[in-house]
Amino acid sequence: MQAVAERYGFEVSRGVMLCPFHADRKPSLKVYPDTRGWHCFVCDEGGSVIDFVAKLFHLNVRQAAIRLDNDFRLGLSTEKPDRREVDRWMQERRKAQASLSAYRAEYGTKCHEAYAIRTAPKPPPESPLWGEYAALLGRLDYLDNYWFCENHWR
Ligand SMILES: [Zn+2]
Repeated sequence: MQAVAERYGFEVSRGVMLCPFHADRKPSLKVYPDTRGWHCFVCDEGGSVIDFVAKLFHLNVRQAAIRLDNDFRLGLSTEKPDRREVDRWMQERRKAQASLSAYRAEYGTKCHEAYAIRTAPKPPPESPLWGEYAALLGRLDYLDNYWFCENHWR
């Protein structure tokens, strides 16, 4: 399973990797040793190595087995995978990755902004700066509730 995940560009570290089936920001897909498959603890997807390849490339189980056979030169079949299907999938995956990395960049910016607000000096309530500070706290509230809420990712 780990060899398959790595062959298709995933980084498996300490038995977990980023799940390609939901917008994962910390690795939540568990890779089991040898041939025991995988399971994502966030989106609850899981199964065998063949299920993983089928889901990843939008193939049926038979096509996924052929794809594995070809990519790992297992010599089980002489059928070739459907090139067009694979290309279409690669295109979709690139698009999804671009939007995810744009989201992550924005998330980073928002983190810095929230940090700046949290560490800003607090003016006394009678100060003319209080209104401005209160507005910043409102902004922080929005950042916390909209950006830093786990549920936002599901
Ligand atoms: Zn998942």
